[in-house]
Amino acid sequence: MPIEKIPEKNAVLFVWFNHYAGVLVKTPSKTLIVDPVDIKARSFPNADAILITHEHYDHLDQRLVTEIQKATNCTIIADPASAKRLQHAIPTGKLQQIRPGEETKVGEVSVKAEGCNHPAELPVTFIITSEDGVKIYHTADSLPFPELAKMGEKEKFDVVFCTVGIAPGTSPRTGFEIARLTKPQVAVPYHTNSPDYQNRFAEIIKKELPRTACLVPEIGKIYQVQKRSDPT
Ligand SMILES: [Zn+2]
Repeated sequence: MPIEKIPEKNAVLFVWFNHYAGVLVKTPSKTLIVDPVDIKARSFPNADAILITHEHYDHLDQRLVTEIQKATNCTIIADPASAKRLQHAIPTGKLQQIRPGEETKVGEVSVKAEGCNHPAELPVTFIITSEDGVKIYHTADSLPFPELAKMGEKEKFDVVFCTVGIAPGTSPRTGFEIARLTKPQVAVPYHTNSPDYQNRFAEIIKKELPRTACLVPEIGKIYQVQKRSDPT
Protein backbone atom coordinates (compact mmCIF):
# COMPACT_ATOMS: atom_id res chain seq x y z
CA MET A 1 0.00 0.00 0.00
CA PRO A 2 2.88 2.48 -0.32
CA ILE A 3 1.25 5.61 -1.66
CA GLU A 4 3.33 7.21 -4.37
CA LYS A 5 0.82 9.98 -4.84
CA ILE A 6 1.28 13.27 -2.99
CA PRO A 7 -1.81 15.24 -1.97
CA GLU A 8 -2.58 18.53 -3.65
CA LYS A 9 -2.08 21.74 -1.70
CA ASN A 10 -4.66 22.17 1.10
CA ALA A 11 -5.56 18.48 0.90
CA VAL A 12 -4.65 15.16 2.50
CA LEU A 13 -4.88 11.58 1.34
CA PHE A 14 -6.14 8.76 3.53
CA VAL A 15 -6.50 4.99 3.34
CA TRP A 16 -8.57 2.80 5.68
CA PHE A 17 -6.62 -0.47 5.81
CA ASN A 18 -8.37 -2.92 8.19
CA HIS A 19 -11.83 -3.53 9.69
CA TYR A 20 -10.96 -1.47 12.75
CA ALA A 21 -9.47 2.00 13.18
CA GLY A 22 -6.47 1.47 10.91
CA VAL A 23 -5.99 4.66 8.92
CA LEU A 24 -3.04 6.00 6.97
CA VAL A 25 -2.95 9.79 6.58
CA LYS A 26 -0.62 11.40 4.07
CA THR A 27 -0.08 15.15 4.13
CA PRO A 28 2.17 16.90 1.59
CA SER A 29 5.17 16.31 3.91
CA LYS A 30 4.40 13.41 6.29
CA THR A 31 2.85 9.94 6.45
CA LEU A 32 1.09 9.00 9.70
CA ILE A 33 -0.27 5.54 10.48
CA VAL A 34 -2.98 5.13 13.12
CA ASP A 35 -3.52 1.79 14.93
CA PRO A 36 -1.83 -0.63 12.50
CA VAL A 37 -3.01 -4.25 12.92
CA ASP A 38 -3.88 -7.00 10.42
CA ILE A 39 -1.43 -5.69 7.84
CA LYS A 40 2.17 -6.29 6.75
CA ALA A 41 4.91 -3.98 7.98
CA ARG A 42 6.12 -3.52 4.41
CA SER A 43 2.84 -1.75 3.61
CA PHE A 44 4.30 1.34 5.27
CA PRO A 45 7.81 1.96 3.94
CA ASN A 46 7.41 5.73 4.30
CA ALA A 47 5.92 6.01 7.79
CA ASP A 48 7.03 9.10 9.69
CA ALA A 49 4.90 8.37 12.75
CA ILE A 50 2.66 5.67 14.19
CA LEU A 51 -0.19 6.80 16.44
CA ILE A 52 -1.77 4.33 18.88
CA THR A 53 -5.14 5.11 20.51
CA HIS A 54 -5.36 2.31 23.09
CA GLU A 55 -4.01 -1.08 24.10
CA HIS A 56 -6.72 -3.42 22.74
CA TYR A 57 -5.61 -6.12 20.29
CA ASP A 58 -7.45 -4.58 17.34
CA HIS A 59 -5.44 -1.34 17.80
CA LEU A 60 -2.05 -2.29 19.21
CA ASP A 61 0.10 -5.07 17.72
CA GLN A 62 3.42 -4.64 19.50
CA ARG A 63 5.36 -6.86 17.10
CA LEU A 64 4.06 -5.06 14.04
CA VAL A 65 4.71 -1.60 15.50
CA THR A 66 8.24 -2.66 16.40
CA GLU A 67 8.82 -4.04 12.92
CA ILE A 68 7.61 -0.85 11.18
CA GLN A 69 9.67 1.28 13.54
CA LYS A 70 12.83 -0.72 12.84
CA ALA A 71 12.32 -0.48 9.08
CA THR A 72 11.50 3.24 8.94
CA ASN A 73 12.91 4.77 12.16
CA CYS A 74 9.53 6.47 12.61
CA THR A 75 8.30 8.01 15.85
CA ILE A 76 5.66 6.24 17.95
CA ILE A 77 3.04 8.39 19.69
CA ALA A 78 0.93 6.26 22.01
CA ASP A 79 -1.59 6.40 24.83
CA PRO A 80 0.01 5.60 28.24
CA ALA A 81 -1.00 1.90 28.40
CA SER A 82 0.29 1.19 24.89
CA ALA A 83 3.47 3.23 25.49
CA LYS A 84 4.16 1.10 28.54
CA ARG A 85 3.87 -2.10 26.51
CA LEU A 86 6.17 -0.71 23.81
CA GLN A 87 8.85 0.82 26.03
CA HIS A 88 11.31 -2.09 25.88
CA ALA A 89 10.97 -2.61 22.13
CA ILE A 90 11.24 0.98 20.83
CA PRO A 91 14.46 3.04 21.10
CA THR A 92 14.38 5.83 23.68
CA GLY A 93 13.59 9.11 21.98
CA LYS A 94 11.39 7.40 19.38
CA LEU A 95 8.52 6.65 21.76
CA GLN A 96 6.29 9.44 23.05
CA GLN A 97 3.50 8.89 25.53
CA ILE A 98 0.51 11.15 24.96
CA ARG A 99 -2.49 11.87 27.23
CA PRO A 100 -5.77 13.61 26.54
CA GLY A 101 -5.14 17.37 26.21
CA GLU A 102 -1.50 17.02 25.08
CA GLU A 103 -0.16 18.02 21.69
CA THR A 104 2.99 17.08 19.78
CA LYS A 105 4.46 17.69 16.33
CA VAL A 106 5.59 15.47 13.50
CA GLY A 107 7.52 18.05 11.49
CA GLU A 108 4.92 20.67 10.62
CA VAL A 109 2.00 18.33 11.30
CA SER A 110 0.27 18.69 14.65
CA VAL A 111 -1.04 15.70 16.61
CA LYS A 112 -3.31 16.45 19.55
CA ALA A 113 -4.81 13.85 21.86
CA GLU A 114 -8.33 14.16 23.23
CA GLY A 115 -10.45 11.92 25.45
CA CYS A 116 -12.18 8.76 24.23
CA ASN A 117 -15.38 7.18 25.53
CA HIS A 118 -14.29 3.54 25.40
CA PRO A 119 -13.50 0.99 28.14
CA ALA A 120 -9.68 0.89 27.98
CA GLU A 121 -7.02 2.14 30.42
CA LEU A 122 -6.59 5.73 29.16
CA PRO A 123 -7.66 5.66 25.50
CA VAL A 124 -7.18 8.74 23.31
CA THR A 125 -8.57 10.14 20.10
CA PHE A 126 -6.35 12.15 17.72
CA ILE A 127 -6.78 15.51 16.04
CA ILE A 128 -4.30 15.60 13.16
CA THR A 129 -3.73 19.01 11.56
CA SER A 130 -1.71 19.04 8.34
CA GLU A 131 0.84 21.75 7.52
CA ASP A 132 -1.88 23.29 5.30
CA GLY A 133 -4.42 23.30 8.14
CA VAL A 134 -6.50 20.32 7.02
CA LYS A 135 -8.10 18.91 10.19
CA ILE A 136 -8.75 15.23 10.64
CA TYR A 137 -10.36 13.82 13.75
CA HIS A 138 -9.65 10.13 14.36
CA THR A 139 -12.10 9.13 17.10
CA ALA A 140 -10.69 5.59 17.66
CA ASP A 141 -13.48 3.37 19.12
CA SER A 142 -15.22 6.19 20.91
CA LEU A 143 -18.88 6.37 21.74
CA PRO A 144 -20.29 9.91 21.66
CA PHE A 145 -19.50 12.20 24.61
CA PRO A 146 -20.65 15.77 25.29
CA GLU A 147 -17.27 17.54 24.85
CA LEU A 148 -17.31 16.62 21.17
CA ALA A 149 -19.71 19.47 20.44
CA LYS A 150 -17.30 22.14 21.73
CA MET A 151 -14.42 20.54 19.90
CA GLY A 152 -16.40 20.58 16.66
CA GLU A 153 -17.14 24.28 17.07
CA LYS A 154 -13.56 25.17 17.87
CA GLU A 155 -11.71 22.96 15.42
CA LYS A 156 -13.98 23.04 12.34
CA PHE A 157 -13.04 19.52 11.27
CA ASP A 158 -12.66 18.63 7.63
CA VAL A 159 -12.86 14.87 8.21
CA VAL A 160 -14.12 12.85 11.18
CA PHE A 161 -13.82 9.05 11.41
CA CYS A 162 -16.84 7.56 13.18
CA THR A 163 -16.99 4.04 14.65
CA VAL A 164 -20.17 2.24 13.55
CA GLY A 165 -19.61 -1.29 14.89
CA ILE A 166 -17.60 -4.03 16.64
CA ALA A 167 -16.58 -1.91 19.69
CA PRO A 168 -18.87 -2.25 22.74
CA GLY A 169 -22.09 -0.24 22.43
CA THR A 170 -21.30 1.16 18.98
CA SER A 171 -23.69 1.19 16.02
CA PRO A 172 -24.45 3.29 12.94
CA ARG A 173 -26.52 5.46 15.27
CA THR A 174 -23.69 6.14 17.77
CA GLY A 175 -21.38 6.82 14.82
CA PHE A 176 -23.91 9.29 13.53
CA GLU A 177 -24.05 10.97 16.97
CA ILE A 178 -20.30 11.58 16.73
CA ALA A 179 -20.81 13.24 13.34
CA ARG A 180 -23.77 15.25 14.64
CA LEU A 181 -21.73 16.58 17.57
CA THR A 182 -18.49 17.29 15.66
CA LYS A 183 -20.12 18.59 12.43
CA PRO A 184 -17.33 17.84 9.96
CA GLN A 185 -17.29 18.66 6.29
CA VAL A 186 -16.92 14.92 5.60
CA ALA A 187 -17.95 12.05 7.91
CA VAL A 188 -16.34 8.64 7.39
CA PRO A 189 -17.90 5.45 8.84
CA TYR A 190 -15.30 2.85 9.88
CA HIS A 191 -14.51 0.16 12.50
CA THR A 192 -16.85 -2.47 11.03
CA ASN A 193 -16.79 -5.41 8.67
CA SER A 194 -20.31 -4.63 7.50
CA PRO A 195 -20.89 -2.44 4.43
CA ASP A 196 -24.52 -2.55 5.54
CA TYR A 197 -23.64 -0.69 8.76
CA GLN A 198 -21.68 1.87 6.75
CA ASN A 199 -24.64 2.40 4.44
CA ARG A 200 -27.03 2.78 7.37
CA PHE A 201 -24.73 5.46 8.75
CA ALA A 202 -24.76 7.17 5.33
CA GLU A 203 -28.57 7.10 5.22
CA ILE A 204 -28.90 8.69 8.67
CA ILE A 205 -26.40 11.42 7.72
CA LYS A 206 -28.29 12.18 4.51
CA LYS A 207 -31.58 12.51 6.35
CA GLU A 208 -30.54 14.24 9.58
CA LEU A 209 -27.32 16.08 8.74
CA PRO A 210 -27.67 17.12 5.09
CA ARG A 211 -24.81 19.65 5.22
CA THR A 212 -22.30 16.95 6.08
CA ALA A 213 -21.00 14.79 3.26
CA CYS A 214 -20.59 11.09 3.92
CA LEU A 215 -17.65 9.23 2.44
CA VAL A 216 -18.13 5.45 2.73
CA PRO A 217 -14.59 4.10 2.40
CA GLU A 218 -13.50 0.79 0.94
CA ILE A 219 -10.55 -0.93 2.56
CA GLY A 220 -7.27 -0.22 0.77
CA LYS A 221 -8.53 2.59 -1.46
CA ILE A 222 -6.94 6.06 -1.53
CA TYR A 223 -9.16 9.08 -0.90
CA GLN A 224 -8.29 12.78 -1.06
CA VAL A 225 -10.01 15.38 1.08
CA GLN A 226 -9.67 19.14 0.60
CA LYS A 227 -9.68 21.74 3.32
CA ARG A 228 -13.10 23.34 3.56
CA SER A 229 -13.19 26.53 1.54
CA ASP A 230 -15.77 28.28 3.70
CA PRO A 231 -14.65 28.09 7.33
CA THR A 232 -17.95 29.03 8.94
ZN1 LIG B 1 -11.47 -1.39 18.25
